[in-house]
Amino acid sequence: MPRRSASASSSDAQCPASWRLYIAAAVARENQMATIDASPAPVTGDPPAVTSPSAGGPGDRLAHRLNPVFRKGILLATHNRPVASFVRRYGMRLGAGNFVAGTTLDEAVVNLHRLSGLGLRTNTTILGEAIRDQAAVERVVQSYVGVLDRIAAEGLNTNLAVKLTQLGLDLDEDTAYTNVEQLVIHAASHGNFVRIDMEEFGRVDGTLRIYQRLRAAGHVNVGTVLQSYLYRTGADLEGLAPLEPNLRLVKGAYLESPTVSYPKKSEIDASYLRLAERMLAVDSFTAIATHDERLIDHVIRYTEANAIPRDRFEFQMLYGIRPALQQELAKRGYRVLVATPFGPDWYFFYMRRLAERPANVLNFARSLFRPS
Ligand SMILES: Cc1cc2nc3c(=O)[nH]c(=O)nc-3n(C[C@H](O)[C@H](O)[C@H](O)COP(=O)(O)OP(=O)(O)OC[C@H]3O[C@@H](n4cnc5c(N)ncnc54)[C@H](O)[C@@H]3O)c2cc1C
Repeated sequence: MPRRSASASSSDAQCPASWRLYIAAAVARENQMATIDASPAPVTGDPPAVTSPSAGGPGDRLAHRLNPVFRKGILLATHNRPVASFVRRYGMRLGAGNFVAGTTLDEAVVNLHRLSGLGLRTNTTILGEAIRDQAAVERVVQSYVGVLDRIAAEGLNTNLAVKLTQLGLDLDEDTAYTNVEQLVIHAASHGNFVRIDMEEFGRVDGTLRIYQRLRAAGHVNVGTVLQSYLYRTGADLEGLAPLEPNLRLVKGAYLESPTVSYPKKSEIDASYLRLAERMLAVDSFTAIATHDERLIDHVIRYTEANAIPRDRFEFQMLYGIRPALQQELAKRGYRVLVATPFGPDWYFFYMRRLAERPANVLNFARSLFRPS
């Protein structure tokens, strides 16, 4: 679809009232967030109540209420063919490039060096998931071996984050195990580290089994991820605790049923804080992966109050999201890692970023209607 210009009145005519309300709310929220990101992270004063909705004005509150609806809509639309082909065709030009460090390793390396120059650690991922073709899986494994070699040759402080469905989990668990073990061994030969991302609920058991197998086989340069939106995560954490695991804690990015996950943001946030405190007590290393300043603020206070050394945890954020906050925390002496993915297969990753913050859809739509 070619870009076209649209006057306010014509776009109003095509835009249902609920969308107009949402867009107005999203703009208000976006403006507020832009201001926050431009200023130092507020990490002093009383801890904010994480159970309350966002503390903005009426626009912010409306966006807050509508976000779960739009999040679900975007995640459902991800598997719609016309949506997929449209976004795949125009997405990189219209916004995906803000979240992806390039389509090639060479482009990603430039950004990895740039982030390193800002005092930020990085990880990288070759975008792609849910591969069900043996030959394609083998190509991914070889590509990751090349990425590890390149990281070493460039002298980058960058580790790997991999998805098991890209390494054969949907073919069978042993294939995924063998492939990820090959990468963990190769990473160890360079003194590097591999983190196994967490995917949908149906993959949690398989992912945790593979992580436990790797640890049982004596590999220590490997970690995984737990999601605070799942009811089961507290029990999973206790199950892993004896391993003194290296864990990343996230809220969770997939569309899950309320039978297995907290439906409300306030509950997900409260779960995040409970899990973060427990992880900091049992982990060998905890990665606090969120852009949510209330949670970051709480973790800073908690680690200070409990004398948890700064080399036992780090903050992790995604490439292109809250960059000022990333640098502010790094300047204050905290370890900050920026997850910096690359590759041509960015579609699912980008759709999850749109779903996390539906105002990003607004940016996408604005680009579409911007006169060329
Ligand atoms: C390093 C890292 C690794 C991750 N790995 C996984 C994983 O393995 N498995 C998994 O399920 N999920 C993963 N996620 C995604 C995670 O589950 C959340 O979906 C994502 O982090 C958004 O939640 P939040 O904690 O930032 O809080 P939110 O409440 O969603 O966001 C807080 C604030 O952050 C900003 N923000 C958040 N998302 C965006 C966005 N997309 N665009 C612009 N601004 C945004 C906004 O200002 C927002 O108000 C990862 C996230 C990070 C940072």
